[in-house]
Amino acid sequence: MKVLFCSAEVSPFAKTGGLGDVCGALPLVLEKKGVETSVVMPRYKTIDTHKFLLKKLSYNVSTTKIGKSTNVYFIENDYFFNRDGLYGDRYGDYGDNLDRFLFFCRRSLELPKQIGFKPDIIHCHDWHTALIPVFLKFLYHDDPFYKKTKSILTIHNLAYQGVFPRWDFFKLGLPRNLFSIDGFEFYEDMNILKAGIIFSDEMTTVSPGYAKEIKTDKLGCGLAGVIRSRKKPMVGILNGIDYKIWDPKSDGCLAKTYSQKNIGGKLFNKTALQKKMNLKVDKAVPIFGFVGRLTSQKGLDLFAQAMKAISKLDLQVIFLGNGDEYYGQMLRGIARTYPMKIAVELKYDERLARQIYAGSDILLMPSAYEPCGLSQMIALRYGTIPLVYKTGGLADTITPFHSSGGRGNGFVFDKHKKETLITAIKLAVKTYKDKEIFNTLVKKAFSYRFSWDESAKKYVMLYRQCLRSA
Ligand code: ADP
Repeated sequence: MKVLFCSAEVSPFAKTGGLGDVCGALPLVLEKKGVETSVVMPRYKTIDTHKFLLKKLSYNVSTTKIGKSTNVYFIENDYFFNRDGLYGDRYGDYGDNLDRFLFFCRRSLELPKQIGFKPDIIHCHDWHTALIPVFLKFLYHDDPFYKKTKSILTIHNLAYQGVFPRWDFFKLGLPRNLFSIDGFEFYEDMNILKAGIIFSDEMTTVSPGYAKEIKTDKLGCGLAGVIRSRKKPMVGILNGIDYKIWDPKSDGCLAKTYSQKNIGGKLFNKTALQKKMNLKVDKAVPIFGFVGRLTSQKGLDLFAQAMKAISKLDLQVIFLGNGDEYYGQMLRGIARTYPMKIAVELKYDERLARQIYAGSDILLMPSAYEPCGLSQMIALRYGTIPLVYKTGGLADTITPFHSSGGRGNGFVFDKHKKETLITAIKLAVKTYKDKEIFNTLVKKAFSYRFSWDESAKKYVMLYRQCLRSA
C-alpha cells in the first residue's frame, strides 16, 4: 500500500506545534508496518539543506530520506516559502496564505507523477492541504493516474479553517457550483477546511474525546453540523509520541540525563533551569512549566485572571512560547510584576522546551480545548506531572490523581474557570510538598506509554477500509 502524506509541517524539518510532531513520527511507524509512505511539504527558508542532506530532484523540488526508506519531498517556491515564518509574522498571518497553500496543494498532486509514486491514499492534514481531496474529486476525476486514489483528511485543530473572502474562490479553478452551502460557502466567505471535510473519502481527528466534542455546537467552530452530516463517521485516533526522540535518558539538550531509576538527575535539571531562567535556586519550590503556542486556545487568559491568587502560593512558573503578540505582552507584564515567581521566554526553542519538560515538576496546560495535546505526554515521559483542563485529548490521557489508592497521573480541573484552576494549582503545590506521595506520582509518570504503535495500526486499518469502499 502506498500512502502520500501532505502536510504544512513535518518535524524535524519545520514545526510550530503538534502537527509537525505527528507528520514527522507517523510515517516512520507506518514504514515499520510495511506501508510505503512518501511525505511532501513546503521548502521553508528555515529548513537547513546541509543538516538534513537535501538533494535537488528538479529545479523546484528537493528531497531527503527519513527512517529506512521514506522519502520526503520539499516543494520549492522562493516567493511563497522563502520567509522567516511558516504561516505569518509578528503582525499576523501572511496575507497570501491562500495562494501559498493552494500552490502547495496543486504541486503536491503533480509531484507523484513526476516521481512515479502512484498513491493508494493521500493523507492530508489540516486546512493547508484540505484542497487536495476536493481537487482529486473535481479536477483529477478523469485522470487515470489517480483513478483509484482515495483521500483522508486528519483534523489536528478545527479552529484553523482557512477562511478567505468569497471573491477568492475563482483562484481555485473549481466549478462555480462548489461555492454553495454544500461546498465551500461559509457565512458568505470561502472555507477551505469545510470543503475538505465534505469531499474527503475519510476523515479523522487526533483523539476520541475531540472527535465527540467537535460534533457539538460548543466546540464545533461553526462546522459541527457539517461534521455530523458526513455519511461516514469521523474516527478519533489518539496521537502518540516518539519515545526515542523524547527520552530523558539520552536527551542531549539536558544538563544531565536521567531515568526512572535515577530521579536525582531530574533535580539537577531543575536547578539548572532555575539558574538559566534567573529564578531563585530552591529545590523545595515546585516549578510549573508551560511550553506552547501563544494563542487563545492555551488558557493563558485564565492563568492571568488567576495570577493574583497564584502569586500568593509558594511556586515558580516558567513560560516558553511564541505566537500572538497579545499573549506575549501579557506574559511579559506578569513576569515584570512577579519577577521572583514568573519567568518568560518568548520564542520557539526546542532545546529550552526539553529543559523545561525535564526541570519542571508540573506541566501547566490549562487549554480551553485541546484536540490531542502532546506536551502532556512528553511531560510524563520526563517525569513531570501534567496539570490540565478536562478537555479533548487531555481528558483522554490525564486522569485525576488520588493520593488514596494512587490512581491517576495528573491534576485535572473540570470547569474552565479561574477558581477551579486555582484549586488545582493549590492541590499540586500541596501534593508536591508531600515528598513521598509526589515521588510516587513521578515514578509512575515514567511508566505511561502513548506510543504510536497502536494508533498506527488504527490508521492502517482505516486505509484498508477506505480502499475497500467503492
Ligand atoms: P499544538 O499542536 O496545539 O501546538 P501540542 O501539545 O499538540 O500542541 O504540541 C505542541 C508541540 O510543540 C510540542 O512538541 C511542544 O514541545 C512544541 N512547542 C510548542 N511551542 C514551543 C516553543 N515555543 N518552543 C519549542 N517547542 C514548542
